[in-house]
Amino acid sequence: MDYKNITVAGSGVLGSQIAFQTAFKGFNVTVYDINDEAVERAKERIAKLMPRYQKDLKASEEEVTGAFNRLSFYSDLSKAVAEADLVIEAVPEVVQIKSDFYKRLGAVAPKKTIFATNSSTLLPSQFAQDTGRPEKFLALHFANQIWLSNTAEVMKHPGTDSQVFEDMLEFAKAIGMVALPLHKEQPGYILNSLLVPFLEAAQLLLVNEISDVESIDKTWQIATGSPKGPFAILDVIGITTAYNIANAKGQAGNPEFVKVAEFLKTEYIDKGKLGIATGEGFYNY
Ligand code: NAD
Repeated sequence: MDYKNITVAGSGVLGSQIAFQTAFKGFNVTVYDINDEAVERAKERIAKLMPRYQKDLKASEEEVTGAFNRLSFYSDLSKAVAEADLVIEAVPEVVQIKSDFYKRLGAVAPKKTIFATNSSTLLPSQFAQDTGRPEKFLALHFANQIWLSNTAEVMKHPGTDSQVFEDMLEFAKAIGMVALPLHKEQPGYILNSLLVPFLEAAQLLLVNEISDVESIDKTWQIATGSPKGPFAILDVIGITTAYNIANAKGQAGNPEFVKVAEFLKTEYIDKGKLGIATGEGFYNY
């Protein structure tokens, strides 16, 4: 792995974090976004991360300003990727946007450049052909607040070159992540493959009036030693997301989830109880 110059494409919630974390670990980082306004917003977003690193990681003023100075910003894709060893894509989770982006990127990036997608729900094989270099493409999936929740799920699609996969695991470690290999494609990676069914089971116990929020959480916490139960976790994720997942399952023809979705909507969403973000969800904060 001899990556030195990294381009992060899309500088929203996750892209700005990936860019700053990568620069913080000593790489030269180029941030790309669609226009000059978006680039200005990226600078502001990243500037707001600097005190977080000082507070949460005890980083010094020199370290965070040093990291900021290793960043450059472009709204011209060719310029943004001219020197890139690796492009990490964090553009919106919309198939058409990602597909168009990879076609444009594949046309202007140097031949050597590796592409990684941070997509949470779309599989890399969906875009492999668009990249024009399927063997140099894979997923590198981060969690929100990457400086604290430092998982990096590295996932191959069937055409990814093995060396590219190994190099990505090494790169993930080099930027301070715990590198987690997925040797085959899996929707939801490791985390959501575990978490989604777990949270759904908890919601069904509640909606079917088997037990209550506190008892379900307490059972899980005491029996497994986990710091949080499923409803406390749902409050962190946000009840809107839980509702969207249940609603989609309900519409796909699963009547139990129609019930879950209705319950979440009337008891929580309509009352403005969306989780920690609004100060109240299943618990008060
Ligand atoms: P976001 O909406 O905050 O940011 C998207 C950014 O992409 C914006 O800066 C936007 O200007 C830019 N953009 C829009 N169109 C573009 C284009 N054509 N080319 C380049 N940039 C473009 O989104 P986000 O939450 O940062 O999510 C980005 C990706 O990261 C998604 O694939 C998402 O699934 C994934 N992800 C998000 C989270 C999360 O918690 N937010 C966690 C893990 C992974």
